[in-house]
Amino acid sequence: MKRVVMMGPPGAGKGTQGALLALALGVNRYSTGEILREARAAGSKLGLEAKSFMDAGELVPDEVMLGIIDEALASPEASPGYVLDGFPRTVAQADGLNAMLERAGRPLDAVILLEVADDELVRRLSGRSLVDGRADDAPETVLRRLAVYAEETEPVVEWYRGTAVPVLSIDGSGSIETVQSSIQGQLGV
Ligand code: ADP
Repeated sequence: MKRVVMMGPPGAGKGTQGALLALALGVNRYSTGEILREARAAGSKLGLEAKSFMDAGELVPDEVMLGIIDEALASPEASPGYVLDGFPRTVAQADGLNAMLERAGRPLDAVILLEVADDELVRRLSGRSLVDGRADDAPETVLRRLAVYAEETEPVVEWYRGTAVPVLSIDGSGSIETVQSSIQGQLGV
């Protein structure tokens, strides 16, 4: 269980749980949201390209995201395994990732789906906007991100259910520790 994808709507806790899981597995975590925010902070070409999409709560184009992941997974640090957080978010990304992993003969071990009710997500994200000041945590943008998740990313869960990769549904509404132990319990780590 060393190649894992974390899925779930914005605010479900993918970042927090992804980091804890990567630590438990002794592998790197790749968060596409963080990679993009760092690119923006550095003022790179990627950052400039991503900015308008992110601020509107829209997705950055698939080719851009596939390029980022291709580069991350090709690095030697990813060879023992990884936790992906925030990717794939569209069926085209899942398909592209699958092709990459098939070429390498290293399929995913599991997809973790963190499930949290919409009203709780909105509550968590509006609290976060006050604390962290992330531009995309503004209320209108949060609603757009949830809609984009329903339109573009929920189909990815169904897509994985049609493959050999196990999709493990986890109740993400409990405390950080409760959710962490249910993830590790399901993965047997
Ligand atoms: P959250 O999951 O809380 O919405 P992230 O930090 O994962 O936040 O992502 C923030 C933003 O970065 C997204 O709204 C989107 O604009 C962009 N982004 C991150 N990952 C992807 C991806 N795989 N495909 C397209 N856009 C992405």
